[in-house]
Amino acid sequence: MTFLEVKDLHVSIDGKEILTGLNFKIDKGEVHAIMGPNGSGKSTLANAIMGHPKYTVNSGDILVNGESILKLSTDLRARKGLFLAFQYPTEISGVGYSHFLRNAYNTLNKALPEDNTREVFLTVREFYEYVKKNLDAVGLDQSFLSRYLNEGFSGGEKKRSEVMQMLVLKPYLAILDEPDSGLDIDAVKAVAEAINKLIELGTGVLVITHYARILRYLKKLDYVHVVAKGKVIKSGGKDLSEELETKGYGWLGLEDK
Ligand code: ADP
Ligand code: MG
Repeated sequence: MTFLEVKDLHVSIDGKEILTGLNFKIDKGEVHAIMGPNGSGKSTLANAIMGHPKYTVNSGDILVNGESILKLSTDLRARKGLFLAFQYPTEISGVGYSHFLRNAYNTLNKALPEDNTREVFLTVREFYEYVKKNLDAVGLDQSFLSRYLNEGFSGGEKKRSEVMQMLVLKPYLAILDEPDSGLDIDAVKAVAEAINKLIELGTGVLVITHYARILRYLKKLDYVHVVAKGKVIKSGGKDLSEELETKGYGWLGLEDK
């Protein structure tokens, strides 16, 4: 069954149309990748799905389980099981990391009560044990929990931290916007392993990336889509990502900005 459907979506930022009729569908538990030149609208799609206020939907629709989410605020979209790992995570001074995670986790537990795969942690200590396992999985030290959210984290630490949040929160659909950009090969593997854990849980995954490299490490990849000038212009399987990696976007008559 289709979990998320994006229908003929037109989105603009500051009056400039970026998405020009984009169609996309993902079923529960499927793994999709979106590739495409810089500036083609990939992050715009991710942000529009989550309801970022800077992105105006002019027409088309975004549906979760067949219902439009366009009128919902971002937190209500998150409560439907949508999660976005940002391309550029923001530093939020004053918001304690562990406090933030625990509140988000508890909020989702209330919102997704029919899902019996979610543990209920009765004590703060039990929750920390659970978080620590996930910190280890992405190679982050426990000391991060006592810091403010993303404040002073290096580029690589921010990326690992986004993926760690995704592991802890266990959304129904995780959207990852270039989780591999700026990472060394070990970090890319760690991020891919974290995504694999979610795939095992049956979570849907949408990975936005420039490189086939991270996709090679994934347990499963159902579809690859190429976005250009605000539309999906080609879809295929894993071989499409390999073809793009070797031939470049020029092969599809596209130019990378
Ligand atoms: P991608 O993620 O595919 O590289 P984006 O979705 O980030 O592309 O951007 C698509 C286009 O929208 C680009 O031309 C970019 O310059 C423009 N854009 C993105 N954010 C803004 C913004 N805040 N204000 C104006 N234009 C923007
Ligand atoms: Mg982007």
